[in-house]
Amino acid sequence: MAGEKGYCVKCRKMQDMADAKQVTMKNGRKALKGSCSKCGTGMYKILGK
Ligand SMILES: [Zn+2]
Repeated sequence: MAGEKGYCVKCRKMQDMADAKQVTMKNGRKALKGSCSKCGTGMYKILGK
């Protein structure tokens, strides 16, 4: 999956997400899990509502 963006807490801005994959959290919500393409910090993006 490519072209996803997420908020990187280290860069403190939106960055492209590398290795993004969809995961389902314990509460049943879906999220994307990946890492910042710039600095490698792990990032999450909650999907949908
Ligand atoms: Zn970053």
